Amino acid sequence: MTISGECFCGAITYEVSGNLRDARSCHCSRCRKAFSSQASAYALVNADEFDWLTGEDLLTSCVGKHGFGLQFCSVCGSTLCGLFGGAVHGVTLGCVNGDPEVEIGQHIFVGSKATWEVMPDGVTTFDEGPPSGPR
Ligand SMILES: [Zn+2]
Ligand SMILES: [Zn+2]
Repeated sequence: MTISGECFCGAITYEVSGNLRDARSCHCSRCRKAFSSQASAYALVNADEFDWLTGEDLLTSCVGKHGFGLQFCSVCGSTLCGLFGGAVHGVTLGCVNGDPEVEIGQHIFVGSKATWEVMPDGVTTFDEGPPSGPR
C-alpha cells in the first residue's frame, strides 16, 4: 500500500510505498517532550520505501548521541519522522493521512508516564522498554 503524510502547515509531504510496522507509543519523559504530548505515536518504515515529496528543505533535525533523532517542520513544528544513522527509521502516526492500517500494539515506559495521564483500559502496557528491538 502507499501511505502519505504531511505536517500541520502542509509544506512538507511524504509517501511510504510499503507498510508501517511495530506501531507503538512510548510514555517516557523524553518522548513526551519530543512529541509535545502524553506519549509518542510512532511506527517503523523501511528507509528505501520512504520518500519526501515536498518541503524537504524545510526539515530541521535533532539527533541525539546514540544516532537516533527526529525531524521537524521548521515552519509549523510538526514532528514528522525518526532518524537512525542518518536514514528515516519511522514516522509519527499523527502526521499520517488517512488509515495506515496499523494500530498501536504496545504502550511502553508506562512506569514513567506523566502523573496527569490516565491510561485507557484494555491496552497492552509495559513499565519499561519493549520486550525486544529499538524504540
Ligand atoms: Zn509544517
Ligand atoms: Zn520514550
